[in-house]
Amino acid sequence: MHVEPSPLKTHAAIRDARRRGLRIGCVPTMGALHPGHVSLVQRARAECDFVVATIFVNPTQFGPNEDFSKYPRTLEADLEMCRAAGADLVFTPQISEMYAADAETIVRVTKLSTVLEGAHRPGHFDGVTTVVTKLFQITEPDLAYFGQKDFQQQLIIRRMVLDLNIPVTVVTCPIIRESDGLAMSSRNRYLSAADRAVAAEIFQALQLAEQLARESLAAPAEIAERMRAHLEATGTMQVQYATVADPQTLAPLETWQRGTSGVALIAAKVGTTRLIDNLLLEF
Ligand code: AMP
Repeated sequence: MHVEPSPLKTHAAIRDARRRGLRIGCVPTMGALHPGHVSLVQRARAECDFVVATIFVNPTQFGPNEDFSKYPRTLEADLEMCRAAGADLVFTPQISEMYAADAETIVRVTKLSTVLEGAHRPGHFDGVTTVVTKLFQITEPDLAYFGQKDFQQQLIIRRMVLDLNIPVTVVTCPIIRESDGLAMSSRNRYLSAADRAVAAEIFQALQLAEQLARESLAAPAEIAERMRAHLEATGTMQVQYATVADPQTLAPLETWQRGTSGVALIAAKVGTTRLIDNLLLEF
């Protein structure tokens, strides 16, 4: 496995692989890898001939009061996990190599980026879409792998790829969870033992939503209220949103009938740690 911090050398190595007729798979990450990330690399390994993982804590997707400076950085362990999962190349750029001091271009998906995560984290998705565009330019993948964990993110990237004619197939991979259902996240390591126990209620709320939808026991707006009530009953969780939305537009689901698909989405703060999760629903 090759570890390469230079964008130009990464581009050249991948061009070379492409010239050899290899199918390129790319897995963008911010490092602090866990089995969720590993599942993406393994999927890429199974479907592609040349697997590139990228590790870059992207400053432009963090708000001024967010955790950029304290975001976990565990490069040695990350590289070991990439190697074990079968990556061929890991791109590990420095900030100065990704952003010129006088850079002035951003990529913005105008509507999908303004709701839910976008409403609570202004500018976040501009950072994501800009860096992912740059990573796609550098790695020119045939396929790119994202987690359903960041449901809105994969939707926005799919929109961007269509709108900008980027010749990449976006693959969305299932959420990998802890044994009590908590979605794996690099941020889970911030949780105290007490907060860690409370955090498991997020998945419980999503499962409640799934059951209410499956058995047609409640309309989407009522399901959203039931999720919020479940989370607020913990007494300590600060719910930012709990919603049942259209999985294509993210608009709150209003009309439904048997067979309608939805997605239950939650963002909540447990202590100082902000967690997100989601579950696809079938009415
Ligand atoms: P991050 O390093 O948090 O930017 O995540 C990199 C990629 O891994 C994103 O596409 C995430 O959606 C995905 N990911 C993060 N956590 C999980 C998880 N628990 N299961 C599956 N994919 C995940």
